[in-house]
Amino acid sequence: MAVHPVPTVRYLAGLITLALAVALAQDPFETARQAMVENQIVSRGVQDARVLEAMRTVPRHQFVSPDRAALAYGDYPLEIGFGQTISQPYVVAYMTELLQPQPEQVMLEIGTGSGYQAAVLAELVAQVYTIEIIPELGESARLRLEQLGYQNIQVRIADGWFGWPEAAPFDGIIVTAAAPQIPPPLIEQLKPGGRMVIPVGPPLGAQNLVLVEKAADGTVTTRTLLPVRFVPFVRGP
Ligand code: SAH
Repeated sequence: MAVHPVPTVRYLAGLITLALAVALAQDPFETARQAMVENQIVSRGVQDARVLEAMRTVPRHQFVSPDRAALAYGDYPLEIGFGQTISQPYVVAYMTELLQPQPEQVMLEIGTGSGYQAAVLAELVAQVYTIEIIPELGESARLRLEQLGYQNIQVRIADGWFGWPEAAPFDGIIVTAAAPQIPPPLIEQLKPGGRMVIPVGPPLGAQNLVLVEKAADGTVTTRTLLPVRFVPFVRGP
C-alpha cells in the first residue's frame, strides 16, 4: 500500500499553525515580554533567576489601559492615570532583586499604582500587602489583580506613611514613590534581617534609591545606590 507523506505533513503543519494561533491569542505579547527581559534586564545585570522568571511571567500589558498595551514592554515608565506611572521594567526588576525575595516571605509595598510591582512580588513571596493613597487606582488595581488570579495580594487604600501595623513585621518593604525622608513607621515594621528599598528625595529634585537594612540585632544601616526619578510620595489629609 502506498503511503502518502503529504497529508501527514499538512496535518502537522496545520496543527502547528493552530497551536501558534492559540498561543498568540492567549498572549500576543509573549515575545515582546521575553525580549524585554533579555534586552533591558539581563543585559543590565539583574541575575536573580526567580526575579527574571517573574518578569517573564507577569503580563505587564494588562496593567495599562488597552490603548497603551503595545507600549507596555518598552524601556520606559508608563502612564497609569492620575499623574502616576509604572516604573520602567528594569527599575522594577532591580528593586525587586534588591529585596532578595524568598518563597516564604511577607512583603509590603507602598504605592500600588497599577498593581504591576505587587504582581511581580506575588510571584516570588508568600504574601504581599500593598497600600495606595489614590482610591481609584487602588480599587482598579485590586480588581485587576483579582481578575488575573492573584490570591496572595491584599490592597489597602490609605496613606502608606504609617505602613500596615496589623500585618507587620515584614521581610521586605518596597516604596515606589519618592519620599523626602524614610517614614519611621516603615523602619519599625521591618523584620530584623529585613530590607527596604525606597527612593528618597524632593518631589522634583535629586532623588536616590536607598537600601535600608535592619540587622538581626535591630541596627539599621542605609546605603545610597543610584539616582532615580519617581513620582512624589504624598501625605494623606
Ligand atoms: N508600583 C506601582 C507604581 C506606582 S507610582 C506600579 O507597579 O504600578 C507611585 C504610586 O504611589 C502612585 O500610585 C501614588 O498614588 C502612590 N502614592 C504616593 N504617595 C503615597 C502614600 N503616601 N501612600 C500610598 N501610596 C502613595
